[in-house]
Amino acid sequence: MQNKLKKNISSRISSINPFYSNNGFALTYHSINDSNHELTSQLYQLSINNFKEQINHLNKNDFISANVSNIFNKKKHYIITFDDGYEELFQICHELLNMQNINCLIFLCPIFVMSKKKGYLSISQIKELSRYKNIEFGSHSYSHKNLQQLTLKDLEFEILDSKKWLEDNLNLPIKTFAYPFGKYDDRSVNILKSSDYEHAFNTKFGFVDNKKNNFEIPRIDIWNNDTISDFTLKIKGKFNWLNFFYNLKNLKK
Ligand SMILES: [Zn+2]
Repeated sequence: MQNKLKKNISSRISSINPFYSNNGFALTYHSINDSNHELTSQLYQLSINNFKEQINHLNKNDFISANVSNIFNKKKHYIITFDDGYEELFQICHELLNMQNINCLIFLCPIFVMSKKKGYLSISQIKELSRYKNIEFGSHSYSHKNLQQLTLKDLEFEILDSKKWLEDNLNLPIKTFAYPFGKYDDRSVNILKSSDYEHAFNTKFGFVDNKKNNFEIPRIDIWNNDTISDFTLKIKGKFNWLNFFYNLKNLKK
Protein backbone atom coordinates (compact mmCIF):
# COMPACT_ATOMS: atom_id res chain seq x y z
CA MET A 1 0.00 0.00 0.00
CA GLN A 2 2.79 2.35 0.94
CA ASN A 3 4.51 1.60 -2.36
CA LYS A 4 1.30 2.22 -4.25
CA LEU A 5 0.96 5.61 -2.58
CA LYS A 6 4.59 6.50 -3.33
CA LYS A 7 4.04 5.45 -6.93
CA ASN A 8 0.88 7.58 -7.28
CA ILE A 9 2.65 10.61 -5.86
CA SER A 10 5.64 10.11 -8.21
CA SER A 11 3.32 9.76 -11.21
CA ARG A 12 1.44 12.95 -10.28
CA ILE A 13 4.59 15.01 -9.84
CA SER A 14 6.14 13.59 -13.02
CA SER A 15 3.05 14.43 -15.05
CA ILE A 16 3.36 18.13 -14.17
CA ASN A 17 7.15 18.20 -14.58
CA PRO A 18 7.68 20.62 -17.50
CA PHE A 19 11.13 19.30 -18.43
CA TYR A 20 11.47 16.59 -21.04
CA SER A 21 13.90 15.38 -23.66
CA ASN A 22 14.17 13.13 -26.70
CA ASN A 23 17.61 11.86 -25.73
CA GLY A 24 18.45 8.18 -26.00
CA PHE A 25 17.72 5.93 -23.03
CA ALA A 26 18.27 2.46 -21.61
CA LEU A 27 15.25 0.74 -20.08
CA THR A 28 15.69 -1.53 -17.05
CA TYR A 29 13.50 -4.59 -16.90
CA HIS A 30 13.79 -7.65 -14.70
CA SER A 31 11.14 -10.33 -15.14
CA ILE A 32 8.37 -10.50 -17.75
CA ASN A 33 5.79 -13.09 -16.73
CA ASP A 34 2.11 -13.62 -16.10
CA SER A 35 2.41 -15.95 -13.13
CA ASN A 36 4.56 -14.06 -10.60
CA HIS A 37 7.44 -15.88 -8.96
CA GLU A 38 9.45 -15.46 -5.78
CA LEU A 39 12.80 -14.71 -7.39
CA THR A 40 12.36 -10.94 -7.45
CA SER A 41 9.95 -8.40 -6.00
CA GLN A 42 6.50 -7.90 -7.53
CA LEU A 43 7.55 -4.42 -8.60
CA TYR A 44 9.97 -5.97 -11.08
CA GLN A 45 7.59 -8.52 -12.60
CA LEU A 46 5.80 -7.10 -15.61
CA SER A 47 2.95 -8.86 -17.36
CA ILE A 48 3.65 -9.93 -20.94
CA ASN A 49 0.87 -7.63 -22.13
CA ASN A 50 2.34 -4.60 -20.35
CA PHE A 51 5.68 -5.31 -21.93
CA LYS A 52 4.11 -5.75 -25.39
CA GLU A 53 2.22 -2.52 -25.00
CA GLN A 54 5.44 -0.65 -24.17
CA ILE A 55 7.28 -2.16 -27.17
CA ASN A 56 4.35 -1.22 -29.42
CA HIS A 57 4.45 2.31 -28.08
CA LEU A 58 8.15 2.60 -28.95
CA ASN A 59 7.55 1.17 -32.43
CA LYS A 60 4.55 3.36 -33.16
CA ASN A 61 6.36 6.50 -32.08
CA ASP A 62 9.45 5.91 -34.24
CA PHE A 63 11.91 5.16 -31.46
CA ILE A 64 14.97 3.34 -32.79
CA SER A 65 16.39 0.25 -31.16
CA ALA A 66 20.11 0.67 -30.50
CA ASN A 67 22.89 -1.37 -28.94
CA VAL A 68 25.47 -0.29 -26.43
CA SER A 69 27.94 0.85 -29.09
CA ASN A 70 25.56 3.20 -30.89
CA ILE A 71 23.23 4.54 -28.20
CA PHE A 72 25.29 7.49 -26.99
CA ASN A 73 24.12 10.98 -27.85
CA LYS A 74 21.39 9.77 -30.19
CA LYS A 75 17.93 11.22 -30.04
CA LYS A 76 15.02 8.78 -29.81
CA HIS A 77 17.28 5.72 -29.60
CA TYR A 78 16.74 3.14 -26.89
CA ILE A 79 18.22 -0.06 -25.57
CA ILE A 80 16.38 -2.67 -23.54
CA THR A 81 18.26 -4.16 -20.60
CA PHE A 82 17.19 -7.12 -18.47
CA ASP A 83 18.80 -7.71 -15.08
CA ASP A 84 19.28 -11.15 -13.45
CA GLY A 85 18.61 -13.42 -16.49
CA TYR A 86 15.17 -14.86 -15.77
CA GLU A 87 14.20 -17.91 -17.78
CA GLU A 88 11.12 -16.47 -19.47
CA LEU A 89 13.41 -14.17 -21.45
CA PHE A 90 14.15 -17.15 -23.67
CA GLN A 91 10.62 -17.01 -25.04
CA ILE A 92 10.30 -13.21 -24.87
CA CYS A 93 13.47 -12.83 -26.95
CA HIS A 94 12.35 -15.39 -29.50
CA GLU A 95 8.76 -14.31 -29.84
CA LEU A 96 8.90 -10.59 -29.29
CA LEU A 97 12.33 -9.09 -29.73
CA ASN A 98 14.00 -11.23 -32.41
CA MET A 99 10.98 -11.06 -34.67
CA GLN A 100 11.18 -7.28 -34.67
CA ASN A 101 14.95 -7.13 -34.57
CA ILE A 102 14.94 -5.22 -31.27
CA ASN A 103 18.25 -5.09 -29.39
CA CYS A 104 18.56 -6.14 -25.82
CA LEU A 105 21.26 -6.59 -23.25
CA ILE A 106 20.85 -9.31 -20.63
CA PHE A 107 22.88 -9.03 -17.41
CA LEU A 108 23.77 -12.41 -15.94
CA CYS A 109 25.17 -13.66 -12.62
CA PRO A 110 27.14 -16.95 -12.83
CA ILE A 111 25.62 -18.05 -9.54
CA PHE A 112 22.10 -17.82 -11.02
CA VAL A 113 23.08 -19.52 -14.28
CA MET A 114 24.75 -22.34 -12.35
CA SER A 115 21.98 -22.72 -9.79
CA LYS A 116 19.85 -24.95 -12.06
CA LYS A 117 17.02 -23.50 -10.02
CA LYS A 118 13.92 -23.18 -12.09
CA GLY A 119 13.47 -19.59 -13.13
CA TYR A 120 16.86 -18.63 -14.53
CA LEU A 121 18.26 -18.94 -18.05
CA SER A 122 20.52 -21.98 -18.45
CA ILE A 123 23.82 -22.06 -20.31
CA SER A 124 22.28 -23.83 -23.28
CA GLN A 125 19.46 -21.28 -23.50
CA ILE A 126 21.94 -18.39 -23.28
CA LYS A 127 24.10 -19.98 -25.96
CA GLU A 128 21.11 -20.34 -28.23
CA LEU A 129 20.08 -16.71 -27.70
CA SER A 130 23.62 -15.51 -28.28
CA ARG A 131 23.38 -16.66 -31.89
CA TYR A 132 21.18 -13.64 -32.53
CA LYS A 133 22.99 -10.43 -33.28
CA ASN A 134 20.44 -8.29 -31.46
CA ILE A 135 20.88 -10.09 -28.12
CA GLU A 136 23.96 -9.27 -26.06
CA PHE A 137 25.08 -10.30 -22.61
CA GLY A 138 26.81 -8.55 -19.76
CA SER A 139 27.84 -9.34 -16.20
CA HIS A 140 25.65 -8.52 -13.20
CA SER A 141 28.43 -9.61 -10.76
CA TYR A 142 29.23 -13.18 -9.71
CA SER A 143 26.72 -13.63 -6.92
CA HIS A 144 24.47 -10.55 -6.83
CA LYS A 145 25.79 -9.01 -3.62
CA ASN A 146 25.72 -5.39 -2.54
CA LEU A 147 29.12 -4.28 -3.87
CA GLN A 148 29.39 -1.45 -1.35
CA GLN A 149 29.70 -3.96 1.48
CA LEU A 150 32.54 -6.11 0.11
CA THR A 151 36.27 -6.15 0.76
CA LEU A 152 38.43 -5.19 -2.19
CA LYS A 153 39.33 -8.83 -2.77
CA ASP A 154 35.70 -9.95 -2.86
CA LEU A 155 34.80 -6.99 -5.03
CA GLU A 156 37.43 -7.97 -7.59
CA PHE A 157 36.08 -11.50 -7.56
CA GLU A 158 32.51 -10.30 -8.19
CA ILE A 159 33.51 -8.03 -11.07
CA LEU A 160 36.42 -9.85 -12.71
CA ASP A 161 35.63 -13.50 -12.09
CA SER A 162 32.04 -13.10 -13.25
CA LYS A 163 33.38 -11.77 -16.55
CA LYS A 164 35.84 -14.63 -16.84
CA TRP A 165 33.25 -17.27 -16.00
CA LEU A 166 30.77 -15.91 -18.52
CA GLU A 167 33.41 -15.58 -21.23
CA ASP A 168 34.74 -19.11 -20.62
CA ASN A 169 31.36 -20.78 -20.44
CA LEU A 170 29.53 -18.87 -23.13
CA ASN A 171 32.44 -18.23 -25.41
CA LEU A 172 31.42 -14.60 -25.73
CA PRO A 173 33.21 -11.36 -24.97
CA ILE A 174 31.69 -9.66 -21.89
CA LYS A 175 32.20 -5.91 -22.02
CA THR A 176 29.30 -4.49 -20.02
CA PHE A 177 28.37 -4.61 -16.35
CA ALA A 178 25.27 -3.72 -14.32
CA TYR A 179 25.64 -3.04 -10.58
CA PRO A 180 23.43 -5.36 -8.48
CA PHE A 181 20.76 -3.32 -6.65
CA GLY A 182 22.34 -0.29 -8.40
CA LYS A 183 24.81 -0.11 -5.48
CA TYR A 184 28.48 0.68 -6.01
CA ASP A 185 31.28 3.03 -5.06
CA ASP A 186 34.50 4.36 -6.59
CA ARG A 187 36.29 1.08 -5.94
CA SER A 188 33.91 -0.78 -8.28
CA VAL A 189 34.22 1.90 -10.94
CA ASN A 190 38.02 1.74 -10.74
CA ILE A 191 38.14 -2.05 -11.05
CA LEU A 192 35.84 -1.91 -14.08
CA LYS A 193 37.89 0.86 -15.66
CA SER A 194 41.17 -0.95 -15.20
CA SER A 195 39.90 -4.22 -16.71
CA ASP A 196 38.61 -4.53 -20.25
CA TYR A 197 35.01 -3.75 -19.45
CA GLU A 198 33.77 -0.86 -21.58
CA HIS A 199 30.46 0.21 -20.02
CA ALA A 200 28.60 -0.11 -16.71
CA PHE A 201 24.96 0.67 -15.97
CA ASN A 202 23.50 1.80 -12.67
CA THR A 203 19.86 2.22 -11.68
CA LYS A 204 19.63 5.99 -11.47
CA PHE A 205 17.05 7.61 -13.72
CA GLY A 206 18.59 9.40 -16.69
CA PHE A 207 19.46 9.45 -20.36
CA VAL A 208 22.41 7.87 -22.13
CA ASP A 209 23.91 11.07 -23.36
CA ASN A 210 27.22 11.53 -21.66
CA LYS A 211 30.01 9.66 -23.35
CA LYS A 212 32.48 10.66 -20.62
CA ASN A 213 30.69 8.62 -18.03
CA ASN A 214 30.85 5.10 -19.47
CA PHE A 215 30.90 3.39 -16.09
CA GLU A 216 27.90 5.10 -14.53
CA ILE A 217 25.30 5.00 -17.26
CA PRO A 218 21.85 5.73 -15.87
CA ARG A 219 18.75 3.88 -16.99
CA ILE A 220 14.98 4.20 -16.76
CA ASP A 221 13.57 1.74 -14.24
CA ILE A 222 10.30 0.12 -15.34
CA TRP A 223 7.85 -1.10 -12.67
CA ASN A 224 4.97 -3.55 -12.89
CA ASN A 225 2.43 -0.88 -11.92
CA ASP A 226 3.50 1.56 -14.65
CA THR A 227 0.60 2.49 -16.87
CA ILE A 228 1.35 3.31 -20.49
CA SER A 229 1.09 6.97 -19.55
CA ASP A 230 3.71 6.49 -16.79
CA PHE A 231 5.88 4.76 -19.38
CA THR A 232 5.59 7.69 -21.81
CA LEU A 233 6.49 10.13 -19.00
CA LYS A 234 9.45 7.99 -17.97
CA ILE A 235 10.99 7.82 -21.45
CA LYS A 236 10.75 11.60 -21.76
CA GLY A 237 12.77 11.86 -18.56
CA LYS A 238 9.91 13.18 -16.47
CA PHE A 239 10.67 10.76 -13.62
CA ASN A 240 14.34 11.76 -13.52
CA TRP A 241 13.74 14.07 -10.57
CA LEU A 242 13.57 10.90 -8.44
CA ASN A 243 17.39 10.92 -8.54
CA PHE A 244 17.28 13.70 -6.01
CA PHE A 245 16.18 11.13 -3.42
CA TYR A 246 18.62 8.53 -4.73
CA ASN A 247 21.53 10.93 -4.26
CA LEU A 248 20.26 11.91 -0.83
CA LYS A 249 20.13 8.25 0.26
CA ASN A 250 23.70 7.71 -0.94
CA LEU A 251 24.98 10.82 0.81
CA LYS A 252 23.72 9.51 4.15
CA LYS A 253 25.85 6.35 3.80
ZN1 LIG B 1 19.77 -7.76 -10.12
